[in-house]
Amino acid sequence: HAKNCGKNNAKLYSSALTTQMMSHVKLEIGLRRALQNNELYLQYQPQIDVRSARMVGVEALVRWRHPEHGIVGPNEFIPLAEETGLIVPIGAWVLRTACGQARAWQEQAGRPVRVAVNLSARQFKDENLAQTVLSVLNDTGLDPCLLELELTEGTLMDDAVATLATLEQLRAIGVYLSIDDFGTGYSSMNYLKRFDVRALKIDRSFISGLPEDSENAAITRAIIAMAHGLKLAVVAEGVETGEQLQLLEQYGCDMAQGYLLGRPSSGEAIGEMLMGEALTR
Ligand code: C2E
Ligand code: MG
Ligand code: MG
Ligand code: MG
Repeated sequence: HAKNCGKNNAKLYSSALTTQMMSHVKLEIGLRRALQNNELYLQYQPQIDVRSARMVGVEALVRWRHPEHGIVGPNEFIPLAEETGLIVPIGAWVLRTACGQARAWQEQAGRPVRVAVNLSARQFKDENLAQTVLSVLNDTGLDPCLLELELTEGTLMDDAVATLATLEQLRAIGVYLSIDDFGTGYSSMNYLKRFDVRALKIDRSFISGLPEDSENAAITRAIIAMAHGLKLAVVAEGVETGEQLQLLEQYGCDMAQGYLLGRPSSGEAIGEMLMGEALTR
């Protein structure tokens, strides 16, 4: 089922884009060239420890600087990349770039910074994913526990042999696995025990109505309680107001990410933030 849903999504996105921007074929040709022409780049969004207010990590988010259409966000081209399989080389580039950057920050700031990379279900079907991760870690010298891989519930529900094998290999490598957009997918609590997941990221849709929305508040509290019961860390996504952050702190949420705490920024800007932290210590 997950496979079909993914396909439908991809079709929806790319057809919206077709009318909006350019033909599907042109987009695909453009995306094929984007990598070799250096048109892709990463921004990094801070993840803050709620209690200490320290930056514990960042999430890498890909963008496309299109020669004619300007900056194109991932929601507009990742679905097509998944559909065409281009997500495999693009994903490998994202991994390499993000890990190299994390290693550079570590040297610059004198302390480790975790970097989170989004992986789509399609990438898990690639039998070389774990090997790619391993060689990127070897080449960049980044500690495996400083690489966070964000999966979705859909990926974990996919019982394809290749997906299960990849998850096992990644566990053996020792990377930090987290579940993105938690609470929005078709999920089973079983996989939380089965796979070596370290953190849940509560989807922005539950956070955005806080503090007023009592149903979303109840869901948020329940996810935090369940996660802690399973010894998992919790990240709140899309935190935009001080009131939301205060409530999350009260609920015992471990980490927060959102415009309030930092917009996605260049690697250089994050480096400066880390250096600034070091100076005020
Ligand atoms: P995501 O992984 O859930 O990433 C969070 C998205 O929420 C990002 O959008 C981020 O810019 C946005 N965001 C962060 N804080 C706030 C906030 O306070 N308010 C609001 N309204 N939005 C906030 P972005 O960068 O457009 O990325 C969209 C999605 O594209 C990501 O969702 C992720 O699923 C996917 N994506 C991004 N980069 C990659 C990548 O390298 N590989 C793959 N496979 N997917 C990627
Ligand atoms: Mg994510
Ligand atoms: Mg998310
Ligand atoms: Mg997402």
